This record gives sequence, structure tokens and C-alpha cells, in this order.
Amino acid sequence: MQNGNGRHGNGTFTAQLSIKSPMPFQRDVYRRAVYQEPAPLGHSDNPFQEMMERFAEAAEIIALDEGVFTYLSRPARVHITSVPVAMDDGSLKVFEGYRVIHNEVLGPSKGGVRFAPDVNLDEVKALAAWMTWKCAVVGVPFGGAKGGIRCNPAEMSPGELERLTRRYTANLMDVFGPDKDIPAPDMNTNEQIMAWLLDTYSMHVRRTETAVVTGKPLALGGSLGRKEATGRGVMTTTLAAMERLGMRPADSTVAVQGFGNVGSIAAMLLHEQGCKIVAVSDVSGGYYNANGIDINAAMDYAAEHGRSLAGFDGAEEITNEELLELEVDILAPCAKENQITEHNAANIKAKIIAEGANGPTTTEADKILKDNGVLVIPDILANAGGVTVSYFEWVQNRHGYFWSMERVNRRLDRMMREGFDKVYDAGEKHDTPLRIAAYIIAIEKVAQALKLRGIYA
Ligand code: GLU
Repeated sequence: MQNGNGRHGNGTFTAQLSIKSPMPFQRDVYRRAVYQEPAPLGHSDNPFQEMMERFAEAAEIIALDEGVFTYLSRPARVHITSVPVAMDDGSLKVFEGYRVIHNEVLGPSKGGVRFAPDVNLDEVKALAAWMTWKCAVVGVPFGGAKGGIRCNPAEMSPGELERLTRRYTANLMDVFGPDKDIPAPDMNTNEQIMAWLLDTYSMHVRRTETAVVTGKPLALGGSLGRKEATGRGVMTTTLAAMERLGMRPADSTVAVQGFGNVGSIAAMLLHEQGCKIVAVSDVSGGYYNANGIDINAAMDYAAEHGRSLAGFDGAEEITNEELLELEVDILAPCAKENQITEHNAANIKAKIIAEGANGPTTTEADKILKDNGVLVIPDILANAGGVTVSYFEWVQNRHGYFWSMERVNRRLDRMMREGFDKVYDAGEKHDTPLRIAAYIIAIEKVAQALKLRGIYA
């Protein structure tokens, strides 16, 4: 099969590549592909395994070809890089940085970079794959990637964060590029960090290259509406789900977990639509007010108190755990992974869960929620608004022509609505929860593109 230069010589693989497997899909294929040896399914808080559980379930329903399954279950490339930083006290610290490219079949890879003390390769691999599925679900022509640096940004000075960002970018100069791989903000990263990334990349290529990164400050080619986009997509998909269930915003109560960029904006926009936001939370705890929380006051409070709600007096304090189990119509987990698990899923009373965060619900919890008839708008759909406006930002950068807020929001709303409708219809067609339906749509789209491109041999 291999000729002298290491390539497959017969060129027949392209012709044989099909999306549907001639054989019924076998779960042990998935086990072999992911773990190399049999491993128990379920009961996992490893995000990569969580992603694979859902991917395997969807693949099984559409009888995805085994080879295509294996191909899509592995990242295309994994970069691990040591990032040395001269600290303010004169010491040298070395941080571990990651950039995982999951897939580029639909276009350049896209995904944020997160800074956190517990970032690890499995998490970044899962998040990179989720970016592939997310882009495919809403029709953004990008592949999926994710980056991270294992650090504690809360303990670092602005100067240290700048040197960390610049060295990470310099180390990954050959990976990033407007036609190759385009980073963006994620957990604990922001516009300023994107500005340093843009500057470092631009200094290396000897020209200002705005399209290399999204989520930039407006003054550097950022897009209107990008900052609000993820929260806005949560709002749009939640309203679409409410319509399907015959729920009216004016009669609906909402609890939002997480009060960062996603949760606070989702809360504000759902409030603007007429919903009553009865609870919000952040790392300092949960805040409940049966009469509705004044979200603008909470946002002002957090802005004035180091982005924390600690001490906010417009509500009574509850725990984050209590927030998840409140008697509300809609629950929006907008914080982090593995919040809704087999331990609390049965206590959830919301009719709709809108996943603003990536991976907030475990596979085991999904089963319980399904049995209890809870409609889960899955992360790869609900929070795809961020990458959708990132795509708009990249398009604007490449055109050198900038859109109004009205145009950004109109196009975002349309893409999110269309994404929701496609997923909802697929859920009805295959009689599956929306999460599996979203995976089916995404996998079919990527597999179709892969089939058309063929395998370069
Ligand atoms: N970090 C965001 C996400 O998880 C946005 C990624 C992007 O805009 O590229 O979807």
C-alpha cells in the first residue's frame, strides 16, 4: 500500500469513502478508537470522554463509517509549548501552553484560548472538537480548535499576562494565521489579551494582520456586537425553544449560573424580552429574588466590585447548587463544565436548559433530564453565537468594511434561529434529544465535506 515516499500509492481510498457504514455501527469501535483498549462508558468527568460519548451516540444513529468516525475522533494536530515568563519579582516561571487543532475540513480552524490553573490537554481536546461541531451546526465555515495556558491569571500582573500572551503567540507563530488558525477569547481571556496577540503576530509578519484573531477591541478591528454575541445567541435559542413549547416570556422565570460575559448578557437580554430573572450567580455564590433581580443594577455592581457580585444586596444569598435546583422555567448554566451531573439532574425543575457554557451537563445527567422531559438546548448550539460573530469579525477584517450593530445582530439572530430549527427538526426526525440531534447535523456536515474532498493519499 505504501510507495517509496511514504504515500499510499493506489489512490482507491477516496472512491471507497462513504459517510454511511456498510456495517451497523458498533460501540466497541468507539472504545478502540478513543482509548485504544476497552474502557467503561459513562460516569466520567473527563470532558473529552463526555464529548466522545455524544459523538458515538450520534454516529451510531446515522451509521457513520468507522473510518470517518476514527478520523473525527482524533485531533488533527496537538501543540504543547513551554511558555517562559520573566515575572515581576525577577524570577523565571515556565507555563504549559496548548493549541489543539481538531479539524480543518470546512475551513481554517477557530476557537478561543483560555487561561486557568486547571487547563489540561483532555479539556482542550474536547473544547477543540466542540468548536468543530459548533461551527458546523450554525453554518460557520470554520474548523475547530482551542488553546489554553495553565496559569492563574488572578495572581498575575498585567505585565506578566502580557509577556505570557506574547510568548505563547510567538511560540505558535507557525500555527496561527488568518487562513490557518484563528484564536479568540475564552475563559479568563479578553479583548486586551487578543490585542497583544494581534500585535505579536503582526510584528512577526511585518504587517498589521487584524484577521488573525477575533474578539479584539473595536479600535483594532473588532466587531460591534461580538462581546454580547454568545449571550445573545443564548437568548435567541431560548426564545426559539420557548415558542416550540408554547411558553411566553412574560410568564417565565429564569435562573442563570455564571455572571461573566455570557451569563450577564444572556440574563440582561432575556430580561429585556420580558422574562423574570430570579437568580444569578458567580464564584462568590448565588443570588435569588423571587420578584426578579434588577440585572442592570447587578451588572453595575459587579463592574464596580472587581467583577464580583459578593455583597450584592438586591437579592438573598443562596448556593450555586441551590440555584441549579430552583423552581424556574428556564435554567441557563453559563459558567463551566460538569455542573449538571447524575447527582443533581433529578432535582432540576426547569423546563428548558440553555447551555451558555461549554459542557455543563454530563452524559449521565442527560439521560435523567431526557426521562424527565427537560428540553436541553445543547452548548454546541446555544453558545455558538460567539463564534458566529467571530466569523463576522473575520469577514469584516478581510473586506476592510465594517457592519452596523443592527446588521451584526440581524445576521446573528438569523443564523442562530436557522441552527435551532435544523436541530429541532433533526431531533424530531431521529427521536433524539437536541444534543444528539445537533451532533448528527454537525457530523453529517463535516463528513459530507470530507467525502467530497476525499483523503489525500
Ligand atoms: N471561546 C468561544 C467559544 O467557546 C468563541 C470562540 C471563537 O469565537 O472563536 O465558542
